Amino acid sequence: MKRSGRFKNILKSLKMQTIMLVIFVGILPAIVLSVAFNKFYVYKQIESDVSDIVPHGEVVGAQIISSGYLNDPSQDNINTLLQAIGNTYGGRVMVVNSSLNIIKDTYKVDEGKTAISPEIIQVMEGQYADFYDKENSDLFVAIPIKSTFSGEELTVGALIINKNMTYVNANLDYFINFEIVFGLVWITILGILTIHFSTRITNPFSKFTKSLKDIEDGVSESDIAVNDFSEVDELSSQMNSLLNRMKVVDESRQEFVSNVSHELKTPLTSMKVLADSLNSMEDVPNELYKEFMTDIGAEIDRETQIINDLLSLVKMDKGARESLNISSVNMNELIELIMKRLKPIAEKQQIELVFESFRPVMAEVDQVKMTLAITNLIENGIKYNKETGWVHVSLNSDHQYCYIKVQDCGIGMPQDSIEHIFERFYRVDKSHSREIGGTGLGLAITKSSIVMHRGDIKVHSVEGEGTTFDVRIPLNYIEEAE
Ligand code: ATP
Ligand code: MG
Repeated sequence: MKRSGRFKNILKSLKMQTIMLVIFVGILPAIVLSVAFNKFYVYKQIESDVSDIVPHGEVVGAQIISSGYLNDPSQDNINTLLQAIGNTYGGRVMVVNSSLNIIKDTYKVDEGKTAISPEIIQVMEGQYADFYDKENSDLFVAIPIKSTFSGEELTVGALIINKNMTYVNANLDYFINFEIVFGLVWITILGILTIHFSTRITNPFSKFTKSLKDIEDGVSESDIAVNDFSEVDELSSQMNSLLNRMKVVDESRQEFVSNVSHELKTPLTSMKVLADSLNSMEDVPNELYKEFMTDIGAEIDRETQIINDLLSLVKMDKGARESLNISSVNMNELIELIMKRLKPIAEKQQIELVFESFRPVMAEVDQVKMTLAITNLIENGIKYNKETGWVHVSLNSDHQYCYIKVQDCGIGMPQDSIEHIFERFYRVDKSHSREIGGTGLGLAITKSSIVMHRGDIKVHSVEGEGTTFDVRIPLNYIEEAE
């Protein structure tokens, strides 16, 4: 089983296919051509000999009639003539009369016998016939002997001339020998060229496979550099860009895992410190106990919040696209509800929340995920704001999209941070953010949710002046293409 698989693999290899192609294109036609040439040579020789013998025989036939040889085969002059013809062609000459009796055979073998063969019958109808005995290299040409009776030409007998053609075979042997020598030289040259070129063609692939294996085994870190042919060059660079992308994905996955562990550890560390210091104290007053326990409770809330955020993110990862629970949602009501919920936090920081709606908007969205997305945008506007600042939310639509704008007059962010804010755990000012609270997962969740709805989010921010988020969501949910 295994062996046949290996054999199949060898047959399927580019090298083997090249060799088979060369055999097919280079060797097979050569064999066919030389066989055809040999056959054609014999055919042409016979044709030329027949066209020599026929007129000769016709002249002799006329002499046979004028001498009355058919009735009297003992005439010496004709017999000598027939013998001479036989000698010329290196074969025998026979004369057949109208009753198909062989009245003369210069070899004396068949004299007196009856000659019956398709060729003789054809001759008796007035046409010459030829037959080649390949085994003995004998050519037989039968020519009608014609006589004129009261103006009408009748066939009264046949002259059969046999020519020995061994010279054709000798020539053929010579040709075949030549063809074999030439063929061997041809096969050798072709073989060398085939091996050379098939190796040259398959070499880059072997190199390519080896490079890939080295990278996989960790032996090599460098890019694949096989550039023997432009096609392979293209393949290498495509492969390299794929490998680089995989590297980036792998790095970001590692970074994500380390970030998650770090974030989950921080509240635990705080709780541990709080608990330890309580334990180390003797006679702890009740108020201190309460205070520390409140702090521990807050840390537990924080831990729960991080885990919930992570779970939302995982749920929103690509594979969970089907889990979107789409319904027709009144976006005006949705945003008003979100703002009502966030009002207490805003009021605590004396921040004015303003909602401006240009028209009633109905959109096909997942209400829960859309709420997560918008809540985080408005919450950020409140969190990263100045005292007595404001957050403006506006809602608009055209026939295709729903537009939500969240604008604040807060602290803004530096330009080089903007491209990172949608990354998980990214926070612009880590120390400041800590005191404000938050894990840096909010915008990652917002973005995932918007992307799942096939929407789009853009940021504009100036440090110290404020930030604007522009969100665009299709009014009708677009099913994922097959
Ligand atoms: P979480 O939302 O998970 O509780 P977070 O608010 O810190 O935490 P994100 O919402 O992802 O995380 O925001 C990432 C960072 O982007 C924030 O830490 C903040 O530095 C910056 N940022 C986000 N929105 C604003 C904004 N409106 N103004 C200024 N900075 C902002
Ligand atoms: Mg946030």
